[in-house]
Amino acid sequence: DERDNSSAHEEKIYVAVRVRPLSDREISKNDSSEWECLNNTTIIFKNTQLPSAYAFDRVFGFNSPTRLVYEESAKKIALSVLSGINSTIFAYGQTGSGKTFTMCGITECAIADVYQYTHRNHERKFVLKFSAMEIYNEAVRDLLQSEATSLRLLDDPERGTIVDKLTEVTLKDANQLKGLLSVCQAQRRIGETSLNELSSRSHQILRLTVESEAVQYRGAQSSSALTASVNFVDLAGSERASQTLSAGTRLKEGGHINRSLLALGTVIRKLSKGRNGHIPYRDSKLTRILQNSLGGNARTAIICTMSPAHSHVEQSRNTLHFANCAK
Ligand code: ADP
Ligand code: MG
Repeated sequence: DERDNSSAHEEKIYVAVRVRPLSDREISKNDSSEWECLNNTTIIFKNTQLPSAYAFDRVFGFNSPTRLVYEESAKKIALSVLSGINSTIFAYGQTGSGKTFTMCGITECAIADVYQYTHRNHERKFVLKFSAMEIYNEAVRDLLQSEATSLRLLDDPERGTIVDKLTEVTLKDANQLKGLLSVCQAQRRIGETSLNELSSRSHQILRLTVESEAVQYRGAQSSSALTASVNFVDLAGSERASQTLSAGTRLKEGGHINRSLLALGTVIRKLSKGRNGHIPYRDSKLTRILQNSLGGNARTAIICTMSPAHSHVEQSRNTLHFANCAK
């Protein structure tokens, strides 16, 4: 059953790794793959005397289609929105490793599934709402509006942190989503000469909110209302969280370190060690916005994307290190 109600216990963060194929450019430079995937759960770094192995909930090799990544690593967590449980699915990895490729596919599959489910279920009445935002330099922007004004975060005693004046579109049919997603893409491009440069520095959050109410029939009276959101997060390039820069590099590139990404790393590490202590959600815009969908009863999946190439070994190892700390 897609709507299993095991919300009472706290769940571990689900961590998957996806290795993309070598790109044409990498192949033309005779770059080679340094990694081997084993048993669906292990990834091995081959090129040392002592090969090192890392194990996760799931490892996807270069020939795994996005549909499979969705079915096995995101579907269950995303569909918990139907039972009133918040969730977040992240793509984490260096720029060019496949975050956007993976997240776009997962978002489309998940929203289509949620839509189908709500359409077939006649015991409850559903309303689906979609919103989209981007965090760039700790400023929050509405991706469904053309103005580039930055939005304020407000603390609501009941709902937690809310993004003031964020557009919420009520979905009327499944096809409407494609249009909305292309509006988001277009908004991301505006004002930046290089999309890659922007996407390496900004976080994108697409949010689907599901409100539902039991349909009253045959004199039944209970109408337990449920509201929950699933967040699809395409993170800034993980090289923005790199701690290994020399002091000189850091001075030259002031914007190199990304506050939200660092704060997220801290929150994830603390959550993975147990959810009782103080979790510093308030340290960044990203962690504030996602607070209700991270930790507590919420479900979280992180899909770490990486290039298989020799030329990216150092960043890939950083990504796997992050993934290890999250599980
Ligand atoms: P990121 O968002 O992490 O910067 P992208 O998602 O833009 O990276 O991916 C970089 C390039 O690699 C794109 O051209 C994308 O189409 C391609 N790519 C990424 N992952 C895969 C994959 N699993 N299979 C095939 N091509 C991929
Ligand atoms: Mg991207």
